[in-house]
Amino acid sequence: VTKTEDQEIQEIQNLYADIDTSKINSFNDFPLSHRTKKGLKDTGYVTPTEIQRESIGPALRGLDILGAAKTGSGKTVAFLVPVLECLFCRQWTRLDGLGALIITPTRELALQIFETLRKVGRYHDFSAGLIIGGKDLHFEKKRMEQVNIIVGTPGRLLQHMDENPLFTCDNLQILVLDEADRCLDLGFEKTMNSIIENLPPKRQTLLFSATQTKSVRDLARLSLKDPCYVSVVEKA
Ligand code: ADP
Ligand code: MG
Repeated sequence: VTKTEDQEIQEIQNLYADIDTSKINSFNDFPLSHRTKKGLKDTGYVTPTEIQRESIGPALRGLDILGAAKTGSGKTVAFLVPVLECLFCRQWTRLDGLGALIITPTRELALQIFETLRKVGRYHDFSAGLIIGGKDLHFEKKRMEQVNIIVGTPGRLLQHMDENPLFTCDNLQILVLDEADRCLDLGFEKTMNSIIENLPPKRQTLLFSATQTKSVRDLARLSLKDPCYVSVVEKA
């Protein structure tokens, strides 16, 4: 007997409340869609890193996350798994438009995230777009319709929001602020605030940062609701 997608979603969601972080040894211990599990396995991700183990459970339950973990700790998969599961459980299709927005400070980081999304999300049917400087804006604009997941840098994203009528965020379910401290260091504070003000308030937000400075706390106050704090401290 093959399970329908409705049944799979119901079964997964029923298990969210019972996720016990101390008992997670592999990604298969999380209640995840078969599509995401297969994508993780194919990419060679078997054992979650600490930030992934700590943050994926609360993120699946729909909580906002304020995550602190240094570079190289595996933050990309920590937010991509909840993004994919969020849209999967809502049975998101191209017609639903933009469901997830991932903001990261530089083109290089955006490209890396996009590549990881293509690998881990390969068994899902979502469309994804990259919005970074240095690409032809006109070309990008025409392709904005029916994009489900966007990865982009702050300046270019705001430019699209301001100039492109096809770029609508009305349906946005989940926002990711990656390397928030670096976004602020690079002078994107006003840009980030303007983007966030353009987004529907009823959404989930995952904010990751290597350091927790005053300006990160200000951004967190603006963008998060009752966040779950996840901090991974390096062991000496
Ligand atoms: P961060 O964003 O915290 O700097 P990344 O998400 O870029 O970290 O991940 C750093 C490296 O670790 C990447 O090469 C990535 O492929 C690898 N990685 C991430 N998660 C896992 C995992 N669960 N198992 C093995 N390698 C992983
Ligand atoms: Mg990163």
